[in-house]
This record gives sequence, C-alpha cells and structure tokens, in this order.
Amino acid sequence: MSDTHARFDRARRHIPGGVNSPVRAFKGVGGDPLFIERAEGAYLYATDGRRYVDYVGSWGPMILGHAHPEVIAAVREAAGRGLSFGAPTELETEMAERVCELVPSMDMVRMVNSGTEATMSAIRLARGFTGRDKIVKFEGCYHGHADSLLVKAGSGALTLGVPDSPGVPAALAEHTLTLPYNDLEAVAEAFAHVGGQIACIIVEPVAGNMNCVPPLPGFLEGLREICDRYGSVLIFDEVMTGFRVALGGAQALFGIQPDLTTLGKIIGGGMPVGAFGGRREIMERLAPLGPVYQAGTLSGNPLAMTAGLKTLELIAAPGFHARLTETTTRLLRGLEVAATDAGVGLRTNQVGAMFGLFFTEAPAVTCFSEVMACDVERFRLFFHGMLDEGVYLAPSAFEAGFLSAAHGDAEIAATLASAQKVFAGFA
Ligand code: PMP
Repeated sequence: MSDTHARFDRARRHIPGGVNSPVRAFKGVGGDPLFIERAEGAYLYATDGRRYVDYVGSWGPMILGHAHPEVIAAVREAAGRGLSFGAPTELETEMAERVCELVPSMDMVRMVNSGTEATMSAIRLARGFTGRDKIVKFEGCYHGHADSLLVKAGSGALTLGVPDSPGVPAALAEHTLTLPYNDLEAVAEAFAHVGGQIACIIVEPVAGNMNCVPPLPGFLEGLREICDRYGSVLIFDEVMTGFRVALGGAQALFGIQPDLTTLGKIIGGGMPVGAFGGRREIMERLAPLGPVYQAGTLSGNPLAMTAGLKTLELIAAPGFHARLTETTTRLLRGLEVAATDAGVGLRTNQVGAMFGLFFTEAPAVTCFSEVMACDVERFRLFFHGMLDEGVYLAPSAFEAGFLSAAHGDAEIAATLASAQKVFAGFA
C-alpha cells in the first residue's frame, strides 16, 4: 500500500470521505488525494516526497504564491499580539477602508469567515431589504453551501452529482429560481412572471464553479437593467473573481456596479475569511444598525485581517494583474498549441488569472450545457498524466484553474513540456 493511500485510509476513519471539503477527495478524477506537507511559491510539497506546480492555489486565495515571506512575517507578528479578541480592532477599520476604496460599489462592508457565510448573509440582507422571498441563481454557479443556494449548484456538488442536496427543505428550495447562465431571455421571462417577488439575483460575474465560463457581452449589463426595473438587488458573488480578474474584481473589468458584493479567498490571503458589502442604504439594514441579523465570534479576526491586508497591499503594485494575465495567456496558448499538434480537441477560457480547460471539439464553451458536453474521461486522463509529471490541476473537470505571481517562465515551460508528453499519450 502506498504511503499516500495509508494516510487517506487513516483520514477516512474519522473524517467523512477523509476530507473537510468534498472536491479534495479526488472523486471527480479517481485515486488518492495528495497529502500536502508545505507549500512555497508556485509549488506544493507532498508527503510522497515530490513537489508539484500548483494551479489550484488553495482554490484561489494564493494569488501571491504560497507562503509569501511578507505575508507570513506579518501574520507571525500579529500572532504575537493575540489570536482573537471578539472586540473591535483598527485592523478591521483598515480592511473596510481598503476594500471600499478598491471596490467603489461598496460603501460599507462586513467581514465574515467564509464565502458561504458571505453569500448566505447577503441573501438574507437582500430579502430583508426588499421584503421579498424569491432569489434567482444560475445553473452551475456555486455560492457556498447555504440551504437556499444548494439548488442546481456547481463545484463539488456538481462533481459529486448532487447539485440539489438532500437536507434542504423543499419549502426553502422553492424560493430559489435557477436559470441558465448567459441566457438573458430566460431571466427576462422569469421576471415577467414573478419579478415583484424576487429579492435578488446572485451571480458569479465570471462563472468559476462549472469550470470557467466568462459572461457573454451584455449578460451582466442585462442583469443590472432587470434588477433596476423590478427593484431587485443585484449581488455579484466575487468570492473567486474579487481582486483576481482585476484589482477591483469583475465589476471593474466589465464596468457594472452591483448593489451587493460577496468576497472571500484573496481577501484573507489564505486565512478563513469572507466579506459582503455594498450600497449604504442596504448595508444599514444590518444589525446593530438595522433589523437584519448577522454575527460571528471570530469575524474580523486579527490574523485573517493581517494576512488579507498584506495581500491586498502587494497585489496593488502597478502592473501586477497585467503580468499575471499575460502569464496565464502564455500558458493557455502553449496548451492549445500542444493539443493541436497532438490532434487533441482542447478549448480554453480565460479571464485574467482564472482559466478553464475543456476537452471538446466544439468551437467555444459559453454555458452550462456546453460544459457538460465536454469529455470528462479525457480530463481525468489529462489530470492524472499531469499529476504524474508533477503538475497539480484542480481534481475535477468542473473547477477553474488559477495562476499566482510566483508562476514564472520555468513553471510555464515545465507545464507545457509535461502537457506535450501527456497529449502524446492520448493518441
Ligand atoms: N462563492 C463562490 C463564487 C465560490 O467560488 C465559493 C467557493 N469556491 C464560495 C462562494 C464559497 O466559499 P467558501 O468555500 O469559503 O465557503
């Protein structure tokens, strides 16, 4: 029995599936997951004694690369002053000021501990603000695992084939309308029927939980118009895209202002953090100012604020996102050439340093049904081939990939050389 297999067996005895978040279990690709000992820059170091070029980046937060020395030093220093106080700190004010400066649609922001908490709270707030119950989401989008949002969900729910989770009361799920992503007509039609009952639309402005699917031109603009027309709240779930596709997130990249924004991942620099915020008029409905309740023992935790603030400071360096985007483009062009040379049908999607790989002969992948039509078996082969070569991709055909600033020429060259070998084996 391999060392990794023994570790996974041991984990499975007392942790359901051996993991604390389902996609980590490699169910989407088969085999045993790596156990990670440490990580640095673009690399994961696993208990099998090997190092892997990492394109998961802890599912998005590690935009600076792993264990960035300045982030680690700041967190070490903060830890010396105490781990949690449950009372206000100036760090929280600094974080709120910084976030509202970087994301101008946000007048106010509240910190929470995960993306799930952020979206769950934003939806409660939208419902409390409008006095309406229904929400609109899109098929294949994932917004965390709150009850209202586990309806036709993406990410691990999709990978495991349980997009509608048991345990979600039907009485709650019936308030969630799920529509096809990038289909504005479907949205207009739903609103024509029940628009007056819809509290909010929640959308990933770039879908990253059904692999990576960018918004078609006009889609986000159309959502904005429809929300304005019906008095519904537009929520951009930027847990993944925030500070990644541009410093100001997808809303800066596409020039659309949502009413509320949810954040996570990068804002915590690798620590457990989420945030939600937006228009003052809506945010002032939140306790203790208003009647909509939301709270958290560890919210605004000083270590998390420190890691997040240092990360936000470093990624604001001039040219940071342009460089990251350029490196990502080089990777994708290289993979496309390698695939074409080997006669393998591969399409790629990219928004900034977020990307999707699709094994298909179709000319483009722009919606959920096109994602689902891709060759998952080929993805599995590719995933394991690359893993053998020392390249760690997301272990599911339904997850976006991420680059960090630590991915340089050497990592891109090594990845492309590996891909050439793996594609050659497909023939
Ligand atoms: N929203 C989006 C867009 C996400 O990608 C995720 C997680 N991948 C979440 C919400 C949930 O965040 P968390 O896992 O921190 O609860």
